[in-house]
Amino acid sequence: MQIEFMGGAQTVTGSQHLLTINGSRILVECGLFQGRRQESRERNQSFLFDPAGIDTLLLTHAHIDHSGNIPNLVKRGFRGPIYATAATVDLCEVLLRDSAHIHEQDAAYLSKENKKEGLPPVEALYTTADVEAALPLFRGVEYSEAVPIAKGISATFQDAGHILGSAGILFEIEENGKTRRLGITGDIGRTKQPILRDPNRLRELDIMLMECTYGSRLHPHSADATEELAKVIRKVHQRGGRILIPSFAVGRTQTLVYMLHKLYIQNRIPDLPIYVDSPMAFEATQIFRRHPECFDREMQRTFLRDRQDPFGFARLKYIRSAEQSKELNDLKSPHIILSASGMCEGGRVLHHLIHTLPSPENMVLFVGYAAQDTLARKLMDGDQNVPILGHMHSVNCEINVMEYFSGHADQNELLEYAGYSSPDRLEHVFLIHGEPDSAAALQEKLEERGYRNVHYPELGETVEI
Ligand SMILES: [Zn+2]
Repeated sequence: MQIEFMGGAQTVTGSQHLLTINGSRILVECGLFQGRRQESRERNQSFLFDPAGIDTLLLTHAHIDHSGNIPNLVKRGFRGPIYATAATVDLCEVLLRDSAHIHEQDAAYLSKENKKEGLPPVEALYTTADVEAALPLFRGVEYSEAVPIAKGISATFQDAGHILGSAGILFEIEENGKTRRLGITGDIGRTKQPILRDPNRLRELDIMLMECTYGSRLHPHSADATEELAKVIRKVHQRGGRILIPSFAVGRTQTLVYMLHKLYIQNRIPDLPIYVDSPMAFEATQIFRRHPECFDREMQRTFLRDRQDPFGFARLKYIRSAEQSKELNDLKSPHIILSASGMCEGGRVLHHLIHTLPSPENMVLFVGYAAQDTLARKLMDGDQNVPILGHMHSVNCEINVMEYFSGHADQNELLEYAGYSSPDRLEHVFLIHGEPDSAAALQEKLEERGYRNVHYPELGETVEI
């Protein structure tokens, strides 16, 4: 078998792993690379392989750094089936349409700029029409059911506990009279998180591709997360400010809404209005409501038995129109705004940042990972002046980072995951989806535990095993 690392290698975005087994070309993930604008455009436009030569695509989850380049793959000739869990398929529909809009707007803006200088227009990476062409290729699969995907290869999707519908994929492979178990972890979630079930780890693997986003880090104890959030809200409320939470529309937003709901009914936070300002978050929430099969026991109880809506309560308002979004700028009394994108690379959160950063009573609360060179990372790193929509803005408000909400396993949780495959059996570990310091730290720990052949592949690297 051949494994080619075509994206998400030595970085956390743009995941693409290509397997060639028994003559079949199987792509796992087709993520969008996110970073500096120019570099992103170039990296995303062309693939390191021929899309028309790919037989099958499998997707671990709907996050755009795993799914976001699918429409471009189809535009460039891919015609095979795309296997993903039913919830992932539904989420992709929403996420990819939104992504197409962003690319269309981006291209329109750049074309206008080019025109001023007499340069040719810029083509969007892909359009809404390309998304519509890709959607019929999706095939929804059930968790824990082995699906034959090519000659001698079956794939089983196991709950990864990362976002709704997320999965690790177990490949059971018969090749040249040899049977092997290859696991691709996808993004690994955490145990005891709200809404989702704990990760169902892939076990007894011979070969593993493991994400290592937080390979060098340990998350603080998550039991305190709810109280910590309540404290922060009380503090900012008291000084009369606004809390802006840049948050991924899918997953993080629903987790926060669920927690805020709990805090609200328990009277642990003051009675202040909460706005979820992202049309996509609204649509994603509808999809959460449609997939109770992905919920953990506590959610099942609230949602199915008590017939309560965990994603809606009196003080919470979903904002959909752009006018309503702009009206939030004029609010004088304390309030909370959740808005996408989480890495502040686009979306309505940008204009909320412009209105939030100048005042010291306000707070921007980060609750997720931000890749290098993104605006969110700059703010998290304490930059005092940041570029937003072409202008520099000074940061006078409080910037807070709460890591409790990370959707990724930390070093201990990754090691625990690896522990489900014994070092005697596991022949190859490839660390993907992580920056170099994360991978190095995890590699050291894995080697201490006796794992052999732990490798951190480069972009474009090919291995034969
Ligand atoms: Zn993810």
